[in-house]
Amino acid sequence: MIKLEHVSKSYTAGIPALNDVSLDIEEGEFVFIVGDSGSGKSTLIKLLLKELEPTEGTITINNKKLNKIKRRQIPKFRRKIGVVFQDFRLFALPLGQNVAIKSDYDKEKAEECLEKAGFTLDAEKMPQGLDTYLYKDLDKNGVNVSGGEAQKIAIARALYKNAPFIILDEPTAALDPVAESEIYSRFSEMVTDRTAVYISHRLSSCRFCDKIAVFDHGSVVQVGTHEVLLADTAGKYHELWHAQAQYYDEKAVKSN
Ligand code: ADP
Ligand code: MG
Repeated sequence: MIKLEHVSKSYTAGIPALNDVSLDIEEGEFVFIVGDSGSGKSTLIKLLLKELEPTEGTITINNKKLNKIKRRQIPKFRRKIGVVFQDFRLFALPLGQNVAIKSDYDKEKAEECLEKAGFTLDAEKMPQGLDTYLYKDLDKNGVNVSGGEAQKIAIARALYKNAPFIILDEPTAALDPVAESEIYSRFSEMVTDRTAVYISHRLSSCRFCDKIAVFDHGSVVQVGTHEVLLADTAGKYHELWHAQAQYYDEKAVKSN
């Protein structure tokens, strides 16, 4: 279980990027974090990974306070967390190595993770299977993958890590809402056996998640299920939902 208690973070003194955030993520839960750009979502993830330290407050993961984790224990701690960031990078190396991040890896597992991430490993697309080079930098027969395919490879990489806790931080920001919606529902299916956080500035088919946390200007302003949050007509979620209704319902926009 992950527990944030009154967590604040300021990059610049006096200007909090996160302001007094308290949030519980239960083991096995699938949490959707939504909020406008700049509302502090990525800052929260960097705190969870101990890439940053909070200015105030406490973060606990499975009863262990993060500030008690020593510098030399950080690599081991990070192995428990699989993250796909918005600006993930693929390498001009064979597909399988991009998934496993090493040259000596479990091929069967790499294939399985790609498949789970929705990447079909057919001979037409990837003539050498897992040994097919991505891009043409190192192999003229390398394959240029599309944005959507790259996303799937990045997700397969996070899955390969076998971490009990997995986070997707807007890895789909470059995709259109429909493609994002597809990645989202697929992700919700593949993480049923672990704790997962999906972060976006866009709403998606939130019905798959256990709870939604709404970020606004560095604060968590609402936590609950889609139905409960939407029913609060004065709330931020209601505002986001209606501002983005065109993605989900053309008629809703035309009637506005
Ligand atoms: P989100 O992921 O929701 O878009 P971020 O957590 O990236 O939001 O950013 C929250 C706020 O903190 C923003 O105002 C952003 O400009 C600021 N911020 C983020 N990273 C840094 C940094 N390294 N230095 C200074 N300010 C930052
Ligand atoms: Mg972000």
